[in-house]
Amino acid sequence: MIIERLKKEGLKGRGGAAFPTGLKWEAVKNAKADKKYVICNASEGEPGVLKDLFILRKYPEEVIKGINLAMREIGSDSAYIFLNPKYFPKLEKKLKKAIKDLPIVLFKKPHGYICGEESTLLNVIEGKPKMPRLKPPFPTEKGLWDYPTLINNVETFYQAVQVAEGKYKAERFYTLGGKVKKKGIAVLPENFTVRQILEHTGNWPNFDFFVQVGGGMSGEILVSEELDRPAGGAGSIIIYKKNANPMKIMRKWARFFMNESCGQCVPCREGTFRLNEALKRKDFDRELVEDILFVLSEASLCPLGKGAAVPFIGYLNKIYAKKP
Ligand code: SF4
Repeated sequence: MIIERLKKEGLKGRGGAAFPTGLKWEAVKNAKADKKYVICNASEGEPGVLKDLFILRKYPEEVIKGINLAMREIGSDSAYIFLNPKYFPKLEKKLKKAIKDLPIVLFKKPHGYICGEESTLLNVIEGKPKMPRLKPPFPTEKGLWDYPTLINNVETFYQAVQVAEGKYKAERFYTLGGKVKKKGIAVLPENFTVRQILEHTGNWPNFDFFVQVGGGMSGEILVSEELDRPAGGAGSIIIYKKNANPMKIMRKWARFFMNESCGQCVPCREGTFRLNEALKRKDFDRELVEDILFVLSEASLCPLGKGAAVPFIGYLNKIYAKKP
C-alpha cells in the first residue's frame, strides 16, 4: 500500500541520486531472503549541504517513524542510522529518545567523505576497509552481510512519512550558502527552479555570479542564464562571485578530492593527485588539466572520482576564460 503511494507521489531519493523511492522499497520487499536490513544514510559529508542535520534536529520522530515504516513494509527487524560523526554529539540524545525500544542502531560514521557512498557504508558497518564495492550487485539484492538492504537518505525517510500520512506537499529542503544574503535551509516546492529559489528567499545577488548546485564540491556549475531548472543532487545552492580567484576555487576542489580519494582505483588516486599538482604550477596548463578530468570522469570506479571532474569541467567551460 505505502509502496504504491510512494510511486504515485513520485518521491525520489533525496541523497543525490534521485532513484524512485517506491521502486527501491519494492525491490527489497520482493527480494527472497531470511533477513533484510534498513539503513538511514545520515552521513551528509558533502560540504555545503546541511539539510539532514536540520531535519534530524527538528523532526527526529518523523525520521524514526519513516525508518520503522520501511522496516515493517519490507519485512526487516533491524535498522541502522549511519550518522555523521560531527552530528553525533548534537543528536545522540534526541535520536535515542525518538528510537525508544525499536531495533534501530545509531552507528557513528568514521571520518571520510567516501564513507557516505552506499557500498562503502556497508563495508564500514561490516568492519571492512573504507572503500566502495563494485556494483552490481546493488544493495537491494546484496547489501549488509549480503542480505537485501534498503538504504535511504534522512530526508527520504522524512518525506515517506509525509506520504504515508497524506501530508506530502512535494517540497524539498534546500541548503543556501556561499555569497548569499541569507544562509540556511529553505523548504520550497521540489519543482522550483534555482532562479525561483533565489528570488523567493531574497537571495538573488546584485553582483555578477555563478552557482554550484547539488553539492559544495561535486555540484554542477551554472551561470545566471542557466537557472531556469531545478536544483538537483542533494539540493544545495552555493553562490560565487564571478570574479573570484579561479586558482583559489579550483585548488579548493582539487585538494578536497585528493584528500578524500580512497585510493582503490588508479584513475582517481593518481588523477586527483596530478590534478592538485597541475593546479599548483605557476603556468596553468589547461590541456593537461582537461586530460586528467577526462580520465577521472571516464575511468573512475565510483561517484567520487567521476564527480570530482564535474565542477572543473563546468567552471573551465563557462567561467574561466583566460590564464590568470
Ligand atoms: S573513484 Fe576514488 S574514491 Fe572511488 S574507488 Fe576509485 S579511488 Fe576510491
